[in-house]
Amino acid sequence: MPSSIEKLQKFLRLEAERGYDNRAVVGGLDKIVPNWVSEAREQNLDAELIQRVTQDLNSYGDMDPLSRPPVVQSLLDYLQEQLTANPSLASPAPAEKNTSATRGQDPQSPKGQRERDKGSKGGSGTRSQPSRQAEDVSHLGLNAPLTVLTGIGHQNAQTLQNLGLETLGDLLYYFPRRYIDYSQLKTINRIEYGEELTIIAGVQSVSTRPIRGGQMQIIEVIVSDSTGFLRLSWFNQNWIANRLKPGEQIVISGKVDMYLGRLVMNNPEWETLDQQQLNTNRIVSVYSLTARVTQRMLRRIIHQTVSFWAPRLVDPLPEKVKQSAGLVNLATAIQQVHFPDSFEKLQAARARLAFDEIFMLQLGVLRQRAQWMVGTAQQFNASDEWLEQQVSRLPFRLTSAQHKVIDDIRKDLASGKPMNRLLQGDVGSGKTIVAALAAILVAQGGAQTAFMAPTSILAEQHYRNLLHLMATSADENAPLKPEEIRLLIGDTSESEKQEIRESLKSGVIKILVGTHALIEDPVEFERLQFAIVDEQHRFGVSQRSALRAKGENPHLLVMTATPIPRSLALTVYGDLDLSVMDEMPVGRQPIATYVLHPRERERAYQMIHAQIEKGHQAFIIYPLVEKGDRDEAKAAVEEQARLQKEVFPLLKIGLLHGRLKPEEKDRVMTAFRDQEYQVLVSTSVVEVGVDVPNATVMIVEGANRFGLSQLHQFRGRVGRGQDQSYCLLIPETEDAVENERLTVMSETNNGFVLAERDLEQRGPGEFLGTRQSGFNELKMASLTDVHLIEKARQQAQALFEEDADLSLPENQELNKMLRRFWSDGKGDLS
Ligand code: ADP
Ligand code: MG
Repeated sequence: MPSSIEKLQKFLRLEAERGYDNRAVVGGLDKIVPNWVSEAREQNLDAELIQRVTQDLNSYGDMDPLSRPPVVQSLLDYLQEQLTANPSLASPAPAEKNTSATRGQDPQSPKGQRERDKGSKGGSGTRSQPSRQAEDVSHLGLNAPLTVLTGIGHQNAQTLQNLGLETLGDLLYYFPRRYIDYSQLKTINRIEYGEELTIIAGVQSVSTRPIRGGQMQIIEVIVSDSTGFLRLSWFNQNWIANRLKPGEQIVISGKVDMYLGRLVMNNPEWETLDQQQLNTNRIVSVYSLTARVTQRMLRRIIHQTVSFWAPRLVDPLPEKVKQSAGLVNLATAIQQVHFPDSFEKLQAARARLAFDEIFMLQLGVLRQRAQWMVGTAQQFNASDEWLEQQVSRLPFRLTSAQHKVIDDIRKDLASGKPMNRLLQGDVGSGKTIVAALAAILVAQGGAQTAFMAPTSILAEQHYRNLLHLMATSADENAPLKPEEIRLLIGDTSESEKQEIRESLKSGVIKILVGTHALIEDPVEFERLQFAIVDEQHRFGVSQRSALRAKGENPHLLVMTATPIPRSLALTVYGDLDLSVMDEMPVGRQPIATYVLHPRERERAYQMIHAQIEKGHQAFIIYPLVEKGDRDEAKAAVEEQARLQKEVFPLLKIGLLHGRLKPEEKDRVMTAFRDQEYQVLVSTSVVEVGVDVPNATVMIVEGANRFGLSQLHQFRGRVGRGQDQSYCLLIPETEDAVENERLTVMSETNNGFVLAERDLEQRGPGEFLGTRQSGFNELKMASLTDVHLIEKARQQAQALFEEDADLSLPENQELNKMLRRFWSDGKGDLS
């Protein structure tokens, strides 16, 4: 048998022969690392050698093809040197040989594989031999397609794709949705109505009879144990009648029901006594299904995969971390999460898997932060007097929350390290002015600021405000001149754009406000040192980095009106410093909020009438079922027509929905702000922070379809002026539970409280509403579990301090897993 070094040489030569396409091993060279490392360890190979091989192979797939040949060649040279220096490495000691042979860890050998192939043909290929089947393809590793499993053909594999299941690895991480406790074994005389339990009994008789005029079949089976008889029935499952034979002993699990005064079981799970029990007589997992996939089938193939693979999994978590966090190992966790022996073990398994997720999230975030922090940034200092003077020029007094955030930002700007700050503040808390003060501070230091907002109307609103507050031409002491603040949006004329580009390059412009046009346009800044991103969740990760890339290591301030619960913020935005504005400017009245029954809609219309008579305006929101959903746009279109015709014939009603072009949306919004419409009918696209102080009524139809945080955003569209404003929520149904959920809205105007509730009710994925990298990966962890998050954070921090780039050999698996976890993050998380 070849030694591990020789095997590796074989692969590398094969790879060279193939022209470095990373196909010498199915799935890529890095697939052999886990097995290779354990063999190399068994042979006591040098740690340095192991590390070098691991690093080279792990990064091989990511390299561009041109840089691969030298890597392979130099690794080959290196291995040869090692062999020459120490010939005993060529063949491992006999004891080790045995170990690796019995474990079947020579999956690459074509001969070995042929032999196994032969073996499996001879075998019966039934479910009693799951591991043999998996072993045949162990060279594919966990990337093997599901078709390698017994009983999974092309068609089944396609169906399973609907569940996102493509490889064996996917199966391991396809966690049960819930569990049923069938571990309670009883004799027939002791069972009671309503219990979920298991009995072991012999089949007495099997009969089939048609019901509903022959449309359905009912299969009745009488079973008995030494204590009594029990009737079982199934509907339309004739195969059971063919399978069950009188005299056979079976295990039956299910819920005890009552029929004509007798205890019975309807549609119970059953298995023969001699087979491995996956569906009965234990804590049974329940998976999410799709058409043509049954629980039984999933349990069987998952069991097949888990029993072969779980013990072979290389645990990426360093031993030290596991110990200090009190975690079970990965093999146990995977086994127990699918086939728990007890609820305690299940709990431990879940804790481990959830820990992994948060831990990966944290490590990624720490790494990101470290990458940002290496750069230096320009320092900006402002004296207290200067700042006081600027603040005193404002038409209102800043809240103490605003003061505090300005202090945070001032410190960052003076630090010499690039600021990476997230400013989180409820709708209307006054974030814009804080950003604007920071921008003039930077302008004072002679540098430029880019201020990016998600829509033209919002960019325009910021631009006007900034101009008004910072560059009034009549005001001698104004910090900026009007030509030093400019607006760049899609609508900006080509000649003006040209002029903006020039004065940006020459440094005349100090603050450029705009939409994504800021990054799409070939504008060049003379000295961009500060980037502000408003409504940051509206931008993709790449757009934010593109803005930053317009300058050299500029300071970054991102703002969001989605109040993120602290536990979540620590996790998602751990790479950013966090400032929170949890205080509203004085004089704001809470928005009076009511949940109406659908039949009370007329009252909502009366409210609109009354407010419009006072000269105010109203929003009516219709639910967005799915982005780009035709019906949703249609609903808004039809409703607008109906309202116009039947309810408000004398009013002007605007219409806003997602299928309008961005310019059209902006046009409608602007017209509404300028009071050309009294009522605006909209889908949820209206959400973004537009200020229409004259609007005082917000009606949300289908309110049950929205999360609390989103409703709070809608509500924030009103109540921006001096007048009492109203928010009326109209759910689609009288469903008490749904409507109960909505009543929280009338109890509080605090976005943070609502966000916490929202997170509890809907989970992080829905809550964030974005495909934020890393979040798709959270299957097990709950972001409401602060204790877990803290634990994972601490461990990640400690590990990071020790081995920031995870280059130690014991952290190699972790490094790989981390890359997989973040694979679609493109390295920028915020
Ligand atoms: P948001 O945090 O939602 O972006 P804005 O920055 O748009 O809020 O501010 C909302 C409104 O409150 C604006 O009209 C702004 O001028 C005003 N505002 C901001 N700060 C204060 C304050 N301290 N006192 C009174 N009004 C303020
Ligand atoms: Mg805003």
